[in-house]
Amino acid sequence: MNDPVRRTTIMAYQTTNPYTNEVVKTYADATPEYVEESLAKAQALYKKWRNDPVATRIPVLRKLAQLFRDETDSLAKVLTIDMGKLFVEAQGEVLLCAQIAEYYADHAEEFLQPRTINTIAGDAQIEDHPLGVLMAVEPWNFPYYQMMRIFAPNFAVGDPIVFKHAAITPASALAFEDAVRRAGAPDGALTNLFLSYDQVSQVVADKRVQGVALTGSERGGVAVAEVAGKYLKKNTMELGGTDAFIVAHDANMADVTAIAPRARLYNAGQVCTSSKRFIVTENNYDELLAALKDAFSSVKMGDPMDPATTLAPMNSKKAKEHLQAQVDMALDGGATAYYVHEPIDDEGQFFMPTILTDITKDNPAYGKEMFGPVAQVYKVKDDAEAVALANDSDYGLGGIVFAGSAEYGAELASQVETGMVFVNTFFSSLPELEFGGVKKSGFGRELGQTGISSFVNQELVVKRERPNENEFGGLVLPHKF
Ligand code: NAP
Repeated sequence: MNDPVRRTTIMAYQTTNPYTNEVVKTYADATPEYVEESLAKAQALYKKWRNDPVATRIPVLRKLAQLFRDETDSLAKVLTIDMGKLFVEAQGEVLLCAQIAEYYADHAEEFLQPRTINTIAGDAQIEDHPLGVLMAVEPWNFPYYQMMRIFAPNFAVGDPIVFKHAAITPASALAFEDAVRRAGAPDGALTNLFLSYDQVSQVVADKRVQGVALTGSERGGVAVAEVAGKYLKKNTMELGGTDAFIVAHDANMADVTAIAPRARLYNAGQVCTSSKRFIVTENNYDELLAALKDAFSSVKMGDPMDPATTLAPMNSKKAKEHLQAQVDMALDGGATAYYVHEPIDDEGQFFMPTILTDITKDNPAYGKEMFGPVAQVYKVKDDAEAVALANDSDYGLGGIVFAGSAEYGAELASQVETGMVFVNTFFSSLPELEFGGVKKSGFGRELGQTGISSFVNQELVVKRERPNENEFGGLVLPHKF
């Protein structure tokens, strides 16, 4: 389960600016003493929070939202330096975080109200109580947004969190932790831990930890879910995908061609819900390919801080090399490189936008998640074949369907085995929209009302003044002793 490289490596947490390749800063792993101290603080806070109403925590979420708005640019710059995303996209991520914090400030009390149950047993209700300390493991692609998805709802619930962020985005991890502290969250509410994989397993196993939330790859999910399973810890897994972008026979091609390149190139193609497979009916195939080529050839790669840049470098040299190996594997397996952007003279970790066609089922790259600016385009005979191909995947995270009408698009969308689908528009994540997948894309949901219920103890309380001797039902023996 543990990666031998990470297990023996010290100082694994490091910011290397993927545009300049400068090693900005290296951080030491958390000491066992600091891990213990953090868990003890979190546990003590849980015990206190157990008795505090949700309303007592809401002002911190409001202040956090305000702080993300007031400090958008400085917070955004940390993201751009850590993992290379366009500054303008980083600003968007920071503002989305403010919206998420605000959403749970507005709705948490309502979502966590006791729910009464009509029963002969007595006056019954479900009360949402905190579950306990949570361990979060988060990825580098949206370093703040992924944190806010787990922090805001669970802070409202009253679950303290310790977290391990990606090794390549340590500055973002610290900036997020610092913002939460400055918003007034008590000590122990959210603690960043620079953990090795072994230490993650130890924290998951710790009896004070009651829940585990991971966002990342299938590989990371399997490793952490295995430990969570072994120690019976409730967990949510938000994993990868090979999301389909279906272009039905009657789709409005002006809309399709406007949205398709953005659905693939946003965040340099490093989005779990990026459209990774364009599945196009044969009458629209040539037009989509031409539009993608047009867009992919006109990107401007360069300094992600420069507003004129439209395509950022990838997050790291390692990620770029991995994607290149996947593209090479696809080509060796018989795929066609319909388009590859001409090389640019820049030392940054830029991947040349690429369009692949003719990926057959026996191609070893078929079904693989390509996490970067590479579009796979598939030609199908009709809409039924498009849905069948979309479903021929081990993953099921998101998806987009373009069709002649919203109704018909929704009809096709319902046939896609996936967690989320957008019809005739681009995919977006908003605080009120539940986020999550099926199959190897994981289980559980973040955001929305479901997202706040993942780590609560839904405690059933049934009360009456005297036993109900005359109304037996359920699992009660009818005779007296
Ligand atoms: P990853 O390698 O799984 O890393 C994600 C996190 O898990 C990092 O903090 C990583 O730490 C940690 N991790 C990995 N293996 C671990 C292990 N054996 N034990 C403990 N921790 C471990 O994922 P990634 O490649 O960086 O991220 C991209 C993936 O995330 C893509 O597949 C993408 O689709 C998916 N994703 C999914 C969602 C969603 O909501 N469903 C959202 C965003 C991204 P290190 O950095 O130290 O390795």
